[in-house]
Amino acid sequence: MSYSHTSFDVPTCPLCQRPIPKDVPQSLHHLIPKLKGGKGGPTVLLHHICHKEIHATFSEVELAQVYYTIDSLKGHPRLEKFIKWIAKRPPEFNSRVPSKRKKNRRR
Ligand SMILES: [Zn+2]
Ligand SMILES: [Zn+2]
Repeated sequence: MSYSHTSFDVPTCPLCQRPIPKDVPQSLHHLIPKLKGGKGGPTVLLHHICHKEIHATFSEVELAQVYYTIDSLKGHPRLEKFIKWIAKRPPEFNSRVPSKRKKNRRR
């Protein structure tokens, strides 16, 4: 429990090391999957996009048996690549598909 009362109090995503502003999609990841006995276990707050990437990369079994620490997650080649890629994106970035294609539909 580390809580600092600064106005700068924005959590950092342990996966990509970028801040997680309040208004961006974010979610809690159970380091040990709930189905594998991780209920009530440690959780980490991640960007939703980072969280999605974890589950797109690993099965619950892999998560439970091998990738139950942030360090092991970050050491995986696919996530390593993802982290390098996402690090260049703004924190509010939330999709691998560019959504800023000017459609000019909403006027
Ligand atoms: Zn992140
Ligand atoms: Zn998760």
